[in-house]
Amino acid sequence: MSTAHSPDGKEAFLRIDNVVKDFGGGAVAVNHVSIDIARGEIFALLGSSGCGKTTLLRMLAGFETPTSGRIVLNGQDLDALPPYQRPINMMFQSYALFPHLTVWDNIAFGLRRDGLPKDEIAERVESMLKLVQLSKYAKRKPHQLSGGQQQRVALARSLAKKPQLLLLDEPLGALDKKLREATQLELVKIIHEVGVTCVMVTHDQEEAMTMASRIAVMSEGRILQVGAPGDIYETPATRFVADFIGNVNLMDGTLVVDESDHVEIECADCRHMVGHGITGTVGMQVSVALRPEKITLTHLEPAGPCNRATGTIRDLSYFGSFTVYHVQLASGAAMKVSMANTRRHAEDQLRVGDTVWAHWDSSSQVVLTQ
Ligand code: ATP
Repeated sequence: MSTAHSPDGKEAFLRIDNVVKDFGGGAVAVNHVSIDIARGEIFALLGSSGCGKTTLLRMLAGFETPTSGRIVLNGQDLDALPPYQRPINMMFQSYALFPHLTVWDNIAFGLRRDGLPKDEIAERVESMLKLVQLSKYAKRKPHQLSGGQQQRVALARSLAKKPQLLLLDEPLGALDKKLREATQLELVKIIHEVGVTCVMVTHDQEEAMTMASRIAVMSEGRILQVGAPGDIYETPATRFVADFIGNVNLMDGTLVVDESDHVEIECADCRHMVGHGITGTVGMQVSVALRPEKITLTHLEPAGPCNRATGTIRDLSYFGSFTVYHVQLASGAAMKVSMANTRRHAEDQLRVGDTVWAHWDSSSQVVLTQ
């Protein structure tokens, strides 16, 4: 049995219950996955290629049948329903807009196929155009629109049928970085305005962090952790999740002091003072996860007690608003440090080759036991 990952205190609108998909040949694409998703959530399935996220999404849509387990939407078991009878719509990365139809007709397409009365179709298309702010573009063909606008037409078309569940497969994969960032926020705003529950698949962690209310990190068919973006980033449960989400320095060490309000971990380059207790015993091997932006670099050794390690700057990457420093510590291990460039001309500028002190406070680390 696997445990359901439930939204805090909210009733499940979509229940994925112990779902397995075994294509045969040894690898199980989705392996005992249970997730409860609340009404109105934007839920992201995040993982690297082959982790099973698309297979899970396709089972929600009805394009694949689970080997075992149940999927229940709003109290209704989806098992017996073919894709076209499910109150679900899927929006693909390629948009799949019809090139020869106008924006208006693209949005109306599914409604016409369902045989809705003409005036209701017109009303829904107009309101969708308004929602995605494309009323002015109703008569254009898809090739006369920008990528972001085409994306919004695809969203309008997906929402026109008023689905109970919207599935997004790498929704912004075809857009360049800048447009993607702007469109992410627009999409979230529209989805919240409509109030539709949404499950999205992405391998782009920034996209998941920006858009989703909760994220499930998947690997090899299993869910490793489910949580709000901030929880997953600040409190990863395993080395894999810490490493997968954002940048992290992982240091192996031994637990040498184990108190309820703090622990100490002896690593090759420093002794970590950690300001919280862990479930562990003295002598056990653990990893300490430390995000690059939680570390400060200075030429001078910091005064007073704090976590510190010394090393040499081997490389730096300038990103405008911040710089990432690659520091080689005494043991030879590399430490990444990211610092905001808050001043134009810093007197104590850090350069490649400098000997520096890296320091961080005792609330910065996460101790991982698995
Ligand atoms: P990507 O991001 O590359 O699309 P993914 O995380 O979405 O990857 P899936 O497409 O769900 O991964 O695939 C999960 C596993 O199941 C992979 O090992 C894949 O080869 C396998 N798989 C997917 N579809 C089939 C199928 N129809 N028959 C056999 N194996 C399949």
